[in-house]
Amino acid sequence: MYRTHTCGELRLTDSGKTVRLSGWVQTVRDFGSMTFIDLRDRYGITQLVFSMETDAPLCEQARKLGREFVIQAEGLVRERSAKNLNRETGDIEIEVQSMQVLNASKVPPFTIEDDTDGGDDLRMKYRYLDLRRTPVQRNILFRSQLSLEVRKYLNEKRFVEVETPFLIKSTPEGARDFVVPSRMNPGQFYALPQSPQTFKQILMVAGYDRYFQIVKCFRDEDLRADRQPEFTQIDCEMAFVTREDILQTFEGLTRHLFRETLGLDLPEFPRMSYDDALRLYGSDKPDLRFDMAFTPLTDLAQGKGFGVFDSAELVVGINAQGQAGYTRKQIDELTEWVKRPQIGAKGLVYVRFGEDGALKSSVDKFFSETDLSAWADRMGAKPGDLMLILAGEEEKTRKQLSELRLEMGRRMGLMTPGDFKPLWVLDFPLLEWDEDTQRFYAMHHPFTSPKPDDIERMASNDRTMLKNLRADAYDLVINGVEIGGGSIRIHNRALQEKNFKLLGFTQEEAERQFGFLLGAFEYGAPPHGGIAFGFDRLCSVLNGQNSIRDFIAFPKNNMGRDMMIDAPSGNRRGSIGGVAA
Ligand code: ASP
Repeated sequence: MYRTHTCGELRLTDSGKTVRLSGWVQTVRDFGSMTFIDLRDRYGITQLVFSMETDAPLCEQARKLGREFVIQAEGLVRERSAKNLNRETGDIEIEVQSMQVLNASKVPPFTIEDDTDGGDDLRMKYRYLDLRRTPVQRNILFRSQLSLEVRKYLNEKRFVEVETPFLIKSTPEGARDFVVPSRMNPGQFYALPQSPQTFKQILMVAGYDRYFQIVKCFRDEDLRADRQPEFTQIDCEMAFVTREDILQTFEGLTRHLFRETLGLDLPEFPRMSYDDALRLYGSDKPDLRFDMAFTPLTDLAQGKGFGVFDSAELVVGINAQGQAGYTRKQIDELTEWVKRPQIGAKGLVYVRFGEDGALKSSVDKFFSETDLSAWADRMGAKPGDLMLILAGEEEKTRKQLSELRLEMGRRMGLMTPGDFKPLWVLDFPLLEWDEDTQRFYAMHHPFTSPKPDDIERMASNDRTMLKNLRADAYDLVINGVEIGGGSIRIHNRALQEKNFKLLGFTQEEAERQFGFLLGAFEYGAPPHGGIAFGFDRLCSVLNGQNSIRDFIAFPKNNMGRDMMIDAPSGNRRGSIGGVAA
């Protein structure tokens, strides 16, 4: 037997027991007559004591152990004289009577501690060592707990877990496919699923009624901190449901997950249309931990001789409450910030509402105090506030102001950790027009249904009319992060064909790629809809973190490489037929 207890288990009440522990040597502290070892496993750390007086050879042996050696030690639990209050096992130590080295370890290339000295690449190469660190381990355990809670909730709601294949043909979600050559069908390829979208719809046709899967999806796109080429979704689909049923069910799931993992009851889930989200926050995933909504000023700001405003499609501002104290230098710096290529604004206009009620702006030359006071009124600004205004082409200006709003939120400390503000964004456009390719793309994916009132208008050939079609689609946003998205689907062959046509598919292409789905729709497809949550993202949002990588046991780096196994690689000989060559 390797152990009677784990390294996180023993307490004062165990004093006097003879125990056996196994684990990794975290530190060795040699005080001459005594040697202390911190022994670690995933449950915690327990202090081992060796004394020259009681057993000199054993103490000598302990002294020579290196970091990360794997040992097994047997001894007596006793109360510590100097307690460690930061550790659950901090009241006790083990007076070691015998010890065995189970395996030696090379000196690790970085310290296995909460704050490590290892850089990203090094830690990814030695991922097994990084995974031993408590913060990383905590994330991986959290993930495991979260998936268990997902299963509990969905099982309770009578969802069936079904696995769908990975070797398929393209399921479009707007990214590139990863392809896998087929040895048995030379010159032919499988695509890895960007999502199980078509399969889950087929399962609804097949009568499974409620499906879920915690599933890997693969998308070949440029990587960012919150993206990985393979990532995990909680993928769900339901038959005989309206949008309302789906929103309720998954609001329930989200609440359940927050309650069970964080012990937190979420506030209400407000709903906002896509149009309002853009109008008020310049983003389809607004962070609602703070307000600072947009106020349009175009009508007030134009016609006073300020060319930048006069030629703008949109003049729009936000009110940063209590920030009138911003110095000239700080405002210059903010102006530089919005002018960075990543944001791309031409400049920034400010109006400072002094505590004394005086209004001072960067455009005093063109606007009287009365003008500025009309802006302040509309923005709801009070003495002590700072109004920040951008102008230009509508869509771009909204995006820029959205970034500025978030930056001000950060600077003003309004993105409180531990504060969670969920939001449903509804009624997305069905189609997105792309100027470069002169065609429509599906904003969500081609299987999304238009809202019932818009179905007839799909027959139109008028581009503006088509641009205005609304989809029965929804996103769940928490703190400005999209954590889930889905839609009510088309379940009628003719309507699906019409949608493919709008998306520029010829009838042959549609038949070749999605004939199986169109065919299935002719055999009693029930009305259905669903949603998928980004599982990795959900993990990071619940933990108030940005990077999903920290919640993936074996993530890829920014170049899509697995640094540990060194993949992808050009040499496939090693794996032909599964036989080492
Ligand atoms: N398949 C969609 C996605 O991956 C989710 C859904 O519509 O259910 O975003």
